[in-house]
Amino acid sequence: MKRLGFIGVGMMGKPMAKNLLKAGYKLTVLDLNAAAVEELVGEGAVRAEHPVEVMSQCEAVITMLPGSADVEQVVFGTQGLLSGIRDEHLVIDMSTIDPMVSKRLALEIDSAGGQMIDAPVSGGETGAINGTLTIMIGGPAAVLDRCREVLSVMGNKLIHAGSEAGMGGKVKLVNNMITGISMIATAEAFLTGLKAGLSMETIVEVVGTSSGNTWVHQNHFPNTVLKNQHEPGFMLDLMYKDIGLALALADDVGVPVPVAGLARQVYQSGRTAGLGRKDFSVVWKHMAEAAGVHQLAPPSDDVE
Ligand code: NAD
Repeated sequence: MKRLGFIGVGMMGKPMAKNLLKAGYKLTVLDLNAAAVEELVGEGAVRAEHPVEVMSQCEAVITMLPGSADVEQVVFGTQGLLSGIRDEHLVIDMSTIDPMVSKRLALEIDSAGGQMIDAPVSGGETGAINGTLTIMIGGPAAVLDRCREVLSVMGNKLIHAGSEAGMGGKVKLVNNMITGISMIATAEAFLTGLKAGLSMETIVEVVGTSSGNTWVHQNHFPNTVLKNQHEPGFMLDLMYKDIGLALALADDVGVPVPVAGLARQVYQSGRTAGLGRKDFSVVWKHMAEAAGVHQLAPPSDDVE
């Protein structure tokens, strides 16, 4: 697999593509954002105009797109990947999408003579830059073996979640359900403490070594909330999408998920306030406004 296709070179896809170039792979790239493509062309990639062109040039194509509709458009749309599939060509979808859509994509791609796995990731932009993503794979073991070397350039932990496409997405949604809920739980608890007269420093110190500690508090807060920095990162729109997908999954299998449902409402309210393209941690600011907490962290920061 010396020439790979890469469709969707945004926040995550661009650094992942750069790591593949550095590892010696030849890349054909496609994105609606011409500037992102241009940057990769500057590092040796070749530009393509349509997905079918990418598929016909490459034995394997990676997609890293926002959501289900985008992946469906790239695969099934006019001049989509499907029309270029032949000879067991491989599609590796690394986007977080509806697991049912992944399953359908795999069936169609299989019928056209190709193969597909879903391989969503966690680890954020930092993991994408450092090649240290956790990659969750759904699909037959033999297909995973075909692309293990490529995936290992982008991630350092490969987990085979099941033999059917969509299983990677299911475990990814379980994880993001926890992250999305944790952010809101942490924000409302912190805001209660701040309004009750505690300092941010005291709360951070106590929670950091107590049972309220979470990945959100330990890793995400220091780089976002505590620095009053909410550029993505992981956009609030994407968290809203993932919790929606998790709710659909829970509904499908018959699990009541009341807290996830409430969390999604809070993210929806953030989107309505125009914060969808900020990092999902911006929900903190949105909740602070509703709570009338204006003294955020650190005290010298300029927070509206
Ligand atoms: P992004 O919006 O930064 O990147 C998506 C890219 O896809 C954009 O450059 C966009 O122009 C391109 N695109 C959209 N439709 C297209 C089309 N039809 N043809 C070609 N290009 C198209 O999003 P991101 O943050 O890189 O996230 C990508 C995926 O990874 C999402 O599914 C997200 O849920 C998941 N994810 C993101 C993070 C994160 O921290 N950002 C972490 C883990 C997983």
